[in-house]
Amino acid sequence: MTEALVEHWVDNAKYTGTSTRRGEVTNPATGAVTSSVCFADEADAQHVIAAAARAATSWGRSSLSSRTRIVFRFRELLNARKRELAAIITAEHGKVLEDAVGEVTRGLEVVEFACGMPHLLKGSFSEGVSTGVNVHSKRQPLGVVGIISPFNFPAMVPMWFYPVAIAAGNTVVVKPSEKDPTALIWVAELWKEAGLPDGVFNVLQGDKVAVDALLDSPDVAAISFVGSTPIARYVYERATANGKRVQALGGAKNHMVVLPDADLDVVADAAVNAGFGSAGERCMAVSVLVTVGPVADDAVARITSRMAKLRVGDGTQGCDMGPLVTRAHRDRVASFVDAGVAAGAKLVVDGRDLRVEDRPDGFWLGPTLFDNVTPEMSIYTEEIFGPVLNVVRVDTYQEALDLVNANPYGNGVAVFTRDGGVARDFEQDVQVGMIGVNVPIPVPMAYYSFGGWKASLFGDTHAHGVEGVHFFTRGKVVTSRWVDPARSPSSRLALAFP
Ligand code: NAD
Repeated sequence: MTEALVEHWVDNAKYTGTSTRRGEVTNPATGAVTSSVCFADEADAQHVIAAAARAATSWGRSSLSSRTRIVFRFRELLNARKRELAAIITAEHGKVLEDAVGEVTRGLEVVEFACGMPHLLKGSFSEGVSTGVNVHSKRQPLGVVGIISPFNFPAMVPMWFYPVAIAAGNTVVVKPSEKDPTALIWVAELWKEAGLPDGVFNVLQGDKVAVDALLDSPDVAAISFVGSTPIARYVYERATANGKRVQALGGAKNHMVVLPDADLDVVADAAVNAGFGSAGERCMAVSVLVTVGPVADDAVARITSRMAKLRVGDGTQGCDMGPLVTRAHRDRVASFVDAGVAAGAKLVVDGRDLRVEDRPDGFWLGPTLFDNVTPEMSIYTEEIFGPVLNVVRVDTYQEALDLVNANPYGNGVAVFTRDGGVARDFEQDVQVGMIGVNVPIPVPMAYYSFGGWKASLFGDTHAHGVEGVHFFTRGKVVTSRWVDPARSPSSRLALAFP
């Protein structure tokens, strides 16, 4: 049987391109190769970027109401058909179906936010700043923007950006992860159905060649990137060297601090949900539990008993946790578990030997728990991006805070306590971009902005919310003086600074 081919999308149609390079797409639950994906060469990339550039002027000048009407229509279609998209995500990423539906729903919230673009793009106006002189400000689209996304949220992460970029009048070229590239083609077809003109939403499939073409093209004004920290840093450096505006969101090592007064049932539920949901392949996954004082044994016991109830299997079959995205990634996560054991951490629950009946070739690794982890171990220093939760025991609140602040990442963090004063101090002093207080995955709502600190974000603008609107637009300030010719004052020369 010939495999399906996942192509590029340009001018509202599929495009195979001239490159013959291909990548394999697998179903992680079965291990089967389900399709191959086109890998762009330089010429393919230029073809797609050129279409976006051709469409940029007319789309940027189209009326706000015509643009938002299309975004509204896209929202209605997506809401009605989100389970179709979720099924595609599960088939290529592996996360369980209800989690995939949740992913689409969170993305949908950004589409809803973008429907309010006419309000968000309002400028300001000052009348009479001098005699007969008024000043107003406006924001205009940038032109073509490139969006480069990771494998772990094939629908939601690109949706942090393109609804806002498009509603603000830009055209986009999205480069999905080569591991799960089909979701964006489904989305492209939906945009077409919603009435989006040719060239406004384009998809460029591929690897580093496609990414580099976007980073180097003089026709691309801005780059929104999400992925691992080394690539985020590379993208930021290369694209800014080419004069582009860049927001590059990187990796994470999210801590959850448990204070002695915390409700340990709430803690255990939160740790299991945020540690093992989506097999730990979330940028907001909790990967380190920091227990303060005497609560560690009790917290570990409650977490362990909950872990025993988790059902791991094919995400289409009503399980709690699916497989890892690829065999290579599964083996990399397993090698971290080996390293943790070798370094002397206590392996409380070992997921390495998990077998799933009827799915012998899936990329399985069960929920894994380490206790007595110390900060120099590789399971602490590295982002594992799998279902591995590490418990670090400390004696005081200050030690917990110092540990979080010493970590090079600063994406998300949570604190569990009943003490409002300590929680307030924590949110004040912790050097992390997104903070949960008795909330494990503090993903901000679409009308706030998403982004970390330190090695979790290169650039200074977070995704969506008002910061997203600013990222995708440029400001202008106009000072104007309209003189009635009948009452025009006599002109005079004045060379002094006014
Ligand atoms: P990745 O960095 O491997 O890939 C991200 C994108 O970059 C993909 O489109 C990929 O094709 C491209 N890419 C990979 N190598 C490249 C290279 N050498 N040159 C140019 N482009 C390259 O990340 P991933 O494995 O797909 O995703 C997981 C990572 O993403 C984790 O580190 C996770 O924390 C991070 N992530 C962060 C956030 C956030 O909000 N900060 C959100 C989701 C995921």
